[in-house]
Amino acid sequence: MASGNYRNGTPKSSLKVDKPLSVNSNIKPSVKSKPSPTSALRRSSPGSLAGGKDAGVLGRVRVAVRLRPRNAEELVADADFADCVELQPELKRLKLRKNNWDSDTYEFDEVLTEFASQKRVYEVVAKPVVESVLEGYNGTVMAYGQTGTGKTFTLGRLGEEDTAARGIMVRSMEDILADISLETDSVSVSYLQLYMETIQDLLDPGNDNIPIVEDPKTGDVSVPGANLVEIRDQQSFVELLRHGEAHRFAANTKLNTESSRSHAILMVHVRRSVKGRHDKEVGLSIENGNASNLVKHLRPPIVRKSKLVVVDLAGSERIDKSGSEGHTLEEAKSINLSLSALGKCINALAENSPHVPVRDSKLTRLLKDSFGGTARTSLVVTIGPSPRHRGETASTIMFGQRAMKVENMVKLKEEFDYKSLARRLDIQLDKVIAEHERQQKVFEDEVQRINIEAQNRISEAERNYANALENERLKFQEDYMESIKKLEERWVVNKEKLGNDRTGIEAKDEWLDKTCSQERPMSSAQEEIVEAKQLLQNEIRLRQAAEEELHNLKSQLVQRERSEAGGSAEILKLCKMLEDEAQQKEKLEKEIAILKSQLLQLSFEADETRRSLDRGGSGKMFNGFDSLMNQVRHPQTKDSGDGQKASVAKLFEQVGLQKILSLLESEDADVRIHAVKVVANLAAEEANQEKIVEVGGLTSLLMLLRSSEDETIRRVAAGAIANLAMNETNQELIMAQGGISLLSMTAADAEDPQTLRMVAGAIANLCGNDKLQTKLRIEGGIKALLGMVRCGHPDVLAQVARGIANFAKCESRSSSQGTKAGKSFLIDDGALPWIVQNANNDASPIRRHIELALCHLAQHEVNAKDMISGGALWELVRISRDCSREDIRNLAYRTLTSSPTFQAELRRLRVEF
Ligand code: ADP
Ligand code: MG
Repeated sequence: MASGNYRNGTPKSSLKVDKPLSVNSNIKPSVKSKPSPTSALRRSSPGSLAGGKDAGVLGRVRVAVRLRPRNAEELVADADFADCVELQPELKRLKLRKNNWDSDTYEFDEVLTEFASQKRVYEVVAKPVVESVLEGYNGTVMAYGQTGTGKTFTLGRLGEEDTAARGIMVRSMEDILADISLETDSVSVSYLQLYMETIQDLLDPGNDNIPIVEDPKTGDVSVPGANLVEIRDQQSFVELLRHGEAHRFAANTKLNTESSRSHAILMVHVRRSVKGRHDKEVGLSIENGNASNLVKHLRPPIVRKSKLVVVDLAGSERIDKSGSEGHTLEEAKSINLSLSALGKCINALAENSPHVPVRDSKLTRLLKDSFGGTARTSLVVTIGPSPRHRGETASTIMFGQRAMKVENMVKLKEEFDYKSLARRLDIQLDKVIAEHERQQKVFEDEVQRINIEAQNRISEAERNYANALENERLKFQEDYMESIKKLEERWVVNKEKLGNDRTGIEAKDEWLDKTCSQERPMSSAQEEIVEAKQLLQNEIRLRQAAEEELHNLKSQLVQRERSEAGGSAEILKLCKMLEDEAQQKEKLEKEIAILKSQLLQLSFEADETRRSLDRGGSGKMFNGFDSLMNQVRHPQTKDSGDGQKASVAKLFEQVGLQKILSLLESEDADVRIHAVKVVANLAAEEANQEKIVEVGGLTSLLMLLRSSEDETIRRVAAGAIANLAMNETNQELIMAQGGISLLSMTAADAEDPQTLRMVAGAIANLCGNDKLQTKLRIEGGIKALLGMVRCGHPDVLAQVARGIANFAKCESRSSSQGTKAGKSFLIDDGALPWIVQNANNDASPIRRHIELALCHLAQHEVNAKDMISGGALWELVRISRDCSREDIRNLAYRTLTSSPTFQAELRRLRVEF
C-alpha cells in the first residue's frame, strides 16, 4: 500500500491533528507510528475498545468496523467483482477501494472481518463497556450502518437455536447477572423504539408517546414514562427481548414502515451498593479510640447507579435517500432528523466546535451522555462488501472515523445515601459520646489513683519510722534484759565461789549481807538507773532524729510542690520580661530613627549655614527653604501634619514656587533632592497643582525623569507626576510631553519597588482617560505596566491592576460608543495571561481591579474567543459565583449570560449556568 493513500478521516492532503489527542487515543497521524507503549489506561482485554476506568478520565469513543459476509444474492450478482473493501485486521486498517489501482486506508480501534465470531465481537466491542457499567460508569454500545449490513445481527440476535449466534444484548446481560448479587444489587431494563421523533415502549406498545425528562441540576436524561422491568434471570430477559422484537415488528407493520427506519434502544439500569470500605475504616478508628479520625472517615454509604444503553440505529442510507425514494415529507424530516442530528453532533464534537446541537432531536438528547458526555461509548459500524454500495460504505466509514475523535469524560456514577448516613451519624455520635465519657472516667480514676498512692507513700514512710523506733526500743529492752541476766549469772557464780570457801547459811548470809548492804545497793540500783537514763536518752535522741527526718521529708515534699508551681510562674515571668524587652527594643529603634533624622537635619543645616555664609548673606531664600525642608524631611518630629502643610503653604508663598523649581536644576545633588521633595509635597495638594503646572513644574519633573541619575529623585518626581496625573488636563499635558515613554524608561531602569509603584500609579491614572487610550497604547503604556509586574511587590501589582482596570473600562466605554472596533488592546498587548493568573490574587486591591477588568473585557464579543482560550472564562464564572462584592458578582453574571460565545462554551463544557 502506498502510504500516500493513507487516510484517517481526513483527506491525505490535509492530514493533520486538530487537537491534542487523549492519552489512550489510538488515532495515529501516520501509518508508521506504533501504538503508544505507555497507555495510561488499563485495557480490559487485548484489543478491547474501552480505555481506562478511573473516575473523570478522558475516554475517546472507541469504534470498530464489522464487515458482513457476502449474502446469497451478492455471491451471485457480485461474483465477478472484488469487495469494495479490503480488511487488514492485524493492522486495524481498512482499505476502501476507489478504483482498480487506488484505495484509501482508514484506521479503526478494531477491524472485524466477515469471519469474526459473535463472541469476539462482543468481547472487543461491548465487554469493556459492560465491565465499566458494573464498576459504576455509564456505558453505551451502538451500531451504525446501512440497512442489511448486520446491526441487528450484531446487537440483537437472541441465539436460542444456536448459542454461538448470541448478540451483544444477550451476552451483556449474562455478564451483568453473573457479576452482581441479587440480594444487594438490582438490574432493570426498558426497551424503546424511536420512530419519527416519538418514543414508543416496546414492552408496552400502547405507551407510545414517552417524554424525555432532563434533570435540571445534573443534566441527566431519563425516560421515566417507560416500563422498567426488573431482571432476575437470563431467561426472563431473553423473553423480554423477544416480546420487544415482536412488538417492534407489529408496530412497524401497523405504521406501515420497516424496522430499518426506527431506532431500537435498550436501557439496562444497574444499581449496586458499595459496601465495606467505609465501615471498616470507622471500625478501625473506634478501636484506636481516635474520635476525630472517626468523624473524618465517616461517609455515607454509596450506591452506584449506572446505565448501559444499547442502540440499534436506523439504517444510515436513510440520511441520503430521504426525499428521493418517495418518503413522505414528514417522515423524511423526522426519521432522519434524529440520525442526521447524531451525525451533526458527532461532527461538532469531533471538531471541538463550541456548539453541539444536542437538542435538535430526541435521539441526540437520549444519547447526550454517550457522545462527549460522561459515558464510556463503543460504536460498531457495520458495512457490506458489495461494490454497488460503495457510497453507503464510504459514508459509514467516515461516520466511524469522526466518532473516533469524540472524547468523553468518563465519570463514576456514585451517589451518597444521606438517609443512612444520618442514621449512621447518630450511632457514631452516641459512640463518640460514650467514648468521651469513658475517657473522662479513666482520667478521673487516674487522678484518684495518684492521690491515693501519694497518701499511701506518706503513711508508709510514717509507718516505717514508727517501726524503726519500736525496733530500737525493743533492742534496748533486750540489751537491758541481757545485762540483768548477766548480773544474775555473775551473782550465781560469786555465790558458788563463796559456798566453796565457806560453808553454811551464815556464810551465804554474810556474803549476802555484805554485798547487799555495801556494794549492791550502790552498784546495781545506781547502775540500773544510770543505764535506764542512758536508754531513755538514747531513745529520746533516736526519736528526735526520726522526727527530724520526718520533718525533713515533709518539708522536702512541700518544697517540691512549691518548686513545681514556681516553675510555671518562672516561665510567665520570663515571657513578661521578653515582652518588655521587645517593647523596649521597639522604643529604642524608634528613638534611633528620630535621632538619625535629627542628625541628618543638623548636618544639612550646618551645610546650608556654611553655604549661606559663603554666599555672603544671599541665603534668605534658603533660610525659608531650610525650614521647609526640615518639615518635609522630618515629619515625625513635628506634631501635626496640618501644621506642616500650613508651613509648607506658607513657605511656598514666601519662597515662591518658581524659585523652588529653579532649585530642581541646582548643581548640588542634595538641594535637587530636597527641592523635588518639596515639589512633590506641594503636588499632593490639589489646590497647588494648577499653579505648579502653570509655572512649568510638570515639565521640570518630566525632565528630571529624563536626566536624573539619582533613583531617589526619579522616584519622587514620578510620585509628583502621579499626583498631577489625577487631573484630566494634566494627563493630556503629560502625554503631549512624551510622559509615557519617560515613565516607561524610568520603570525599565528602576529596581526599588517604591519607584515602580509611583510610575505604575502615574500610568494607571493615565489609563483612566478615554481620549488617550490609543496614544497610550502606541507609546507602550500597557507594555510598561506589564513590565513592572516583574518586581512582584503587591503595591506595584495593585497599581498595575488598577491601570489595567482603568484601561479596560475606558475601552469598554468606547467600544459601546462605537469609537473603538476590534479586540482589546490589552489582549493584543498580551495582558491576558497576567490578568488570568492574578484574577484570584490573595491581595484584595489586586483582585478587585482585575475582576473589574475581566468584566469590562468580557462585555465585548470580540474579546470572548481569546478570553475562553486564555482561561478567563473560568475566572468569570468564579467571579460570578464567589466574588464577595455583589456589584462585581452581578456584573460578571450579567456579562456571562448575555454573551452568546460564552454561553455556547459553557453549554459545550456542560457547565450549568
Ligand atoms: P441490519 O440490522 O443492519 O439492517 P441485519 O442484522 O438485519 O442488518 O442483517 C441483515 C442480514 O444479514 C440478516 O439476514 C443477517 O442474518 C445477515 N448478517 C448480518 N451480519 C452477518 C454476519 N456477520 N454473518 C452472517 N450473517 C450476517
Ligand atoms: Mg436491523
